[in-house]
Amino acid sequence: MESIRFEELGITEPILRAVKDMGFEEATPIQGQAIPLQKQGADVIGQAQTGTGKTAAFGIPLLEKIDPENRKTQGIILCPTRELAIQVAEELRKLAKYMQGVKVLPIYGGQDMRTQIRSLKGGVEIVVGTPGRVMDHMRRRTLKLDDVHTVVLDEADEMLDMGFIEDIETILAQAPGERQTVLFSATMPEEIQEIARKFQRDPKLVRVLKKELTVPAIEQYYYMVKQKDKLEVLCRLLDMYNPKLSLVFCNTKKQVDDLVVGLQGRGYFAEGLHGDLKQNLRDRVMLGFRSGHTDILVATDVAARGIDVDDVEAVFNYDIPQDEEYYVHRIGRTGRAGREGLAFSFVVGREIYKLKDIQRYCRTKIQERRIPSVSDVSRVKTDLILRRMEETIAQEDLGKFVKIIEGKMDGGEYSTLELAAAFLKTFLGEEGEEIDESPVGATGRSERRGGRRDHDRDHDRDRDDSSEGMVRLFVNLGKNMGIRPGDIVGAIAGESGIPGRLIGSIDMYDRYTFVEVPKDQVNTVLRGMKNCKIKGKPISVERANVRK
Ligand code: ADP
Ligand code: MG
Repeated sequence: MESIRFEELGITEPILRAVKDMGFEEATPIQGQAIPLQKQGADVIGQAQTGTGKTAAFGIPLLEKIDPENRKTQGIILCPTRELAIQVAEELRKLAKYMQGVKVLPIYGGQDMRTQIRSLKGGVEIVVGTPGRVMDHMRRRTLKLDDVHTVVLDEADEMLDMGFIEDIETILAQAPGERQTVLFSATMPEEIQEIARKFQRDPKLVRVLKKELTVPAIEQYYYMVKQKDKLEVLCRLLDMYNPKLSLVFCNTKKQVDDLVVGLQGRGYFAEGLHGDLKQNLRDRVMLGFRSGHTDILVATDVAARGIDVDDVEAVFNYDIPQDEEYYVHRIGRTGRAGREGLAFSFVVGREIYKLKDIQRYCRTKIQERRIPSVSDVSRVKTDLILRRMEETIAQEDLGKFVKIIEGKMDGGEYSTLELAAAFLKTFLGEEGEEIDESPVGATGRSERRGGRRDHDRDHDRDRDDSSEGMVRLFVNLGKNMGIRPGDIVGAIAGESGIPGRLIGSIDMYDRYTFVEVPKDQVNTVLRGMKNCKIKGKPISVERANVRK
């Protein structure tokens, strides 16, 4: 496809500078086609997939038309949700960074009316709002449309789905007749075409065809899995690729909830998003994801629609989407605007036929991959870590750290090689030992997951499998310290005086151990273990946290 430079689109200097700051190298196809038409003053219907840069496609020509001297509202952008209104307003503000005196305000239901009224009174050239709230302000005369020369309907099909059609008609009917009306949508259902016929003048249709939808930079793979193994496979892939942000798609709300519980139980930072969540909770989840507090967002198609987060490095189709078009929507969340991305699909049994349909429909190749074994995960993680080390060595000033290590080496207890190996092992988590080579399903309890952050979660992993009448204790020593289960039994029995046979199951990990003792002996054991040592190492015992 030929590339279009923003300079060729006749865009003014301040916006060109802003676009450069935003890191856009060239215009996307929809931008290349829609911007010139709008600049000529035409009404436009733009149809293109999510993630194709539609916001700038209408935002740039709209900003160019704004007269900053006139404080009155000149452009109205209607969006289906509060999240989108905020996103669009943010994108426009970025584009307007070097323009003097252009105010962009998102208005949406749920936000305090008085705050919005105060902001509107201060003079706002561009209002980005949900239809309901825009109408509210029109009724109160806190938003006047007299000077509006452009109305944009963004995600028109989504607004239709949400039942905003009448509101939109009301707003369009009250906007000045001499205006430009621009409509963007991923799909063009009949009702949308109807709106176009009724409210646009001789609209020009701009379309980016489906076959261009699948971004080639996205590597797409599928795994044949059993339903019950999906969580395990997902975890292995997450560990292996360690994506900064991941989106996991499920077909149902219940699956979203179940998967979030499963992932959190394994120490991953995952949150769910679906239609049943209250708006403020949705906002919180999205904020967490954008700010990087949440690494993994699990969502249904509807809930994820229109969400725009950069840096999504991997998309997982935990369930194969029912609708082929959803596949394109889903994987379009990664590899945005030419970035690299990965898409993984889990296929159960006969779903392979659905996957074949998807490949035909999207004209794309989805390659089969073997489910990674635990040792595959470990190897890839090791590679990633070593590569990062190489970058650090090449790019960073290590003087201070070299000194620290030199100090450590003075004792001559171990070699730098051993020290480096220990660092690698620590980085890897504890997968260096007892690698489970078996295919999915037979994973041991002592396996550790989610290398980066699992350490923080070690203590409070859900442990509802304690035996009746037993209490699980956390002991700060593990295999790595050369401790054996017998040492722990011996210490507990010896120091607290309870018979060894009363001590229940012992789960020993590299750095700590869980041990069960009878409920009525807990305090005796905790008291007895104070200030004691095993093999010269101070031992600390406390109740293991159980959630709920
Ligand atoms: P859409 O509305 O079509 O779903 P957006 O307007 O939300 O897409 O854009 C998706 C992402 O791509 C945003 O992060 C946006 O900043 C970015 N983007 C838009 N245009 C370009 C471009 N020309 N080059 C690179 N990135 C772009
Ligand atoms: Mg959009």
